[in-house]
Amino acid sequence: MSSGKTIFLRRGKDESLKRFHPWVFSGAVHHVDGDLDEGDIVDVCNSEGEFLARGHWQIGSIAVRILTFDDEPIDGEFWRSRLAAALAVRRSVGLTGREDSDIYRLVHGEGDNLPGLVIDIYGKTAVVQAHSVGMHVNREAIVQALREVMGDNLCAVYYKSETTLPFKAQLAQENGFLWGECRDNVARENGLSFRIDWLKGQKTGFFVDQRDNRHLLEQYARGRRVLNMFCYTGGFSVYAMRGGAQLVHSVDSSAKAIELVNENMQLNFPNDSRHEAFAEDAFRFLDEMKPMYDLVILDPPAFAKHKDSLKNALRGYTKLNARAMEKMPSGSILFTFSCSQAVSKDQFRLAVFTAAAICRRRVRILHQLHQPADHPVNIYHPEGEYLKGLVLYVE
Ligand code: SAH
Repeated sequence: MSSGKTIFLRRGKDESLKRFHPWVFSGAVHHVDGDLDEGDIVDVCNSEGEFLARGHWQIGSIAVRILTFDDEPIDGEFWRSRLAAALAVRRSVGLTGREDSDIYRLVHGEGDNLPGLVIDIYGKTAVVQAHSVGMHVNREAIVQALREVMGDNLCAVYYKSETTLPFKAQLAQENGFLWGECRDNVARENGLSFRIDWLKGQKTGFFVDQRDNRHLLEQYARGRRVLNMFCYTGGFSVYAMRGGAQLVHSVDSSAKAIELVNENMQLNFPNDSRHEAFAEDAFRFLDEMKPMYDLVILDPPAFAKHKDSLKNALRGYTKLNARAMEKMPSGSILFTFSCSQAVSKDQFRLAVFTAAAICRRRVRILHQLHQPADHPVNIYHPEGEYLKGLVLYVE
């Protein structure tokens, strides 16, 4: 049942695969048998030639992303069973078949044993994102399996990999529909409506991963003056409005994001003067603002994309949180996040601790937040835990 192409590992370099870690680093590869093209399916063997796993070959520091540790073919049945298993998880956590919510992540890369693949569902549209050449090569088979698994619950598949595929592979892939076409791009989350810009928006068009945290924020909003910093499509802002905030100010440096937040506000709370949005740089806004906000959300983009930028990233989190905290009235609530994979939960907490100490504020941790159940972490791949947040009471 071999895939026909094989790589052999250096002696002793099979340890991580024995622990079911889904990556083979290029330094572990001893030699390659056969002509390998980027994106090919390869068998991975130890130095003795024993089969260990099968996955997608890629040029770069991660040489193979493992699809299976069993000697099974990567065919239509494989994709179907992996997608069906992913759907079963979403069903178990109550994300499917709901009237008030039709946004969820169906496939979360390694978390669903499909490294390099992300699929988000928005109503009846699936947005597929390939992060590896192998997933790109297999996209047609994936779409076919997706249609079979989702049945009538799907009317279109949009492929959005222009910016996520490795640049060096020069695939020149353009975004577009791979199957069907859906113009209705308003989807629902916990009874709120959001226009999803999968054509031009960041990621797959929406930050699905903050769903539970937005819901929690709603519980804190009553009567408060809310600042949603790095608002993007305004998810936190819309929940704060429903939670009964006195006023909500949304800030993002991107004018496009401000357009989106205003549109989403109009969909849910038309002409409600409690909300205002500002296209401005976060640090500038924080420097110039009055000390008037008693519920603040800080959800910046990843400050550290790689381990090398870790130190600067931690300094960035400290500076940002200190700027916000120093202007928060006593009794305020701060929702603060980091989505950098390279920053651990403890490192982030230390950065926020430092911010609190700089401002000499008494701060209590009320909640420790993380990514939701439709962004599961593969137990053998702890690197998959990326979103962390703290809810703080600032006295
Ligand atoms: N909280 C959002 C997701 C935030 S994504 C949600 O729940 O959907 C990060 C956002 O930060 C992006 O929209 C980006 O435009 C914005 N951003 C990046 N740098 C910024 C800066 N210096 N000042 C303000 N916004 C910034």
